[in-house]
Amino acid sequence: MLRKAVVVICDGLADRPVPELGNLTPLEAARTPNLDKLAFEGECGMMHTLGRGKIPGSDTAHLMIFGYDIATCYSGRGPIEVAGLGMELRDGDVALRGNMGTVVDGIITDRRAGRIRVVTPLCEALDGMKIGDVEFVVKPGTAHRAGVIIRGKGLSDAIIDADPHIPDVPIREVTLTDNSPEAKKTADVLNKFLAKAHEVLSDHPFNKERVANGDLPANYLLVRGSGQYKEVESFKEKYDLTSCCIAGGGLYKGIGAFLGMDILDVPGATALPDTDIEAKFKLAVESVARYDFVFVHVKAADSLGEDGDFKGKKEFIEKIDLAVPILSGLPKDTLMVWTADHSTPCEMKAHSADPVPVLFHGGAVRADRIDAFNERACTCGGLGYMNGLDLMPEIQNLLGKLHLVGA
Ligand code: ZN
Repeated sequence: MLRKAVVVICDGLADRPVPELGNLTPLEAARTPNLDKLAFEGECGMMHTLGRGKIPGSDTAHLMIFGYDIATCYSGRGPIEVAGLGMELRDGDVALRGNMGTVVDGIITDRRAGRIRVVTPLCEALDGMKIGDVEFVVKPGTAHRAGVIIRGKGLSDAIIDADPHIPDVPIREVTLTDNSPEAKKTADVLNKFLAKAHEVLSDHPFNKERVANGDLPANYLLVRGSGQYKEVESFKEKYDLTSCCIAGGGLYKGIGAFLGMDILDVPGATALPDTDIEAKFKLAVESVARYDFVFVHVKAADSLGEDGDFKGKKEFIEKIDLAVPILSGLPKDTLMVWTADHSTPCEMKAHSADPVPVLFHGGAVRADRIDAFNERACTCGGLGYMNGLDLMPEIQNLLGKLHLVGA
């Protein structure tokens, strides 16, 4: 009987046929003997992570794969990003992600303040600020990034970003997307906070020193991605499985934190093509002793697809395959699942609604006749076509966690 699960999600792994690769996808063209061996020994299929005809974002796709219906659990990227920064969310909080940028005479001259490396003292100066009965919690992210929580009664996420997403335009106010009193209150306090924050940041000794050194001041907080947090059942409550997240990218740590998974640090996990995949897989093997469910995220195939770099994507997939033998160190009672959150076709340089391959391996998984892990071979696999929300019930079944329906 299988007791543990390791789920490896390769971001944006799936693709479309590329003429320069002989009309193969990067996954088909890549030399992947280790993944193909797993396919030979396991059971394969295809998955529409959000359902047919929907283009998944990485955040929504991961939630659906983990069995959290975005119709009830998702309200925007803000809550997931701030969870990834270790910020504790409470029911009713509105969360935003932000950049520290440079504003001169009301014009945004640089959205990242010259790619400032650390914004910790600036965030500390804003953290805990109150506007009326509403509190602002501000924590630093990596480099120019920050997370913001608006906490108080009667708030709403029905607001439009204050971040114009381009430089050399005037700063703008947060506006409403509905006429509710909650949206009005939220926009009002947020506009007051952003104006006050601009004053505090402009006068901050850290920025004065930057200006004296010829650097751009990080004197304006550009916020976006608002979402109102609704408490979700933790992964442990929902599945009776202890879980951990092994990822390099902030968004994926955020997904893990949002669902109550333990976030494990991996030195060398950069979310870039130079990422240390072997370190992630070694940590996965070690972690199975302590956790029932291990989520491993590998990012770079997606970024290479978004660059249209089919050669780089193929090579990165070969790099993943080379690290696969490390996972043969997993205990025999471990179910291994390989899949992707969405396709990122090189020809589109963007996500698409094409389904992704899925592979189950281990124990008494019913091996099918598929002997290669790729977009076309897996269409004929025993798992058939599933939706993202079907994946966890399949895993629960194999781990003996489902209950009898009827008598
Ligand atoms: Zn993705």
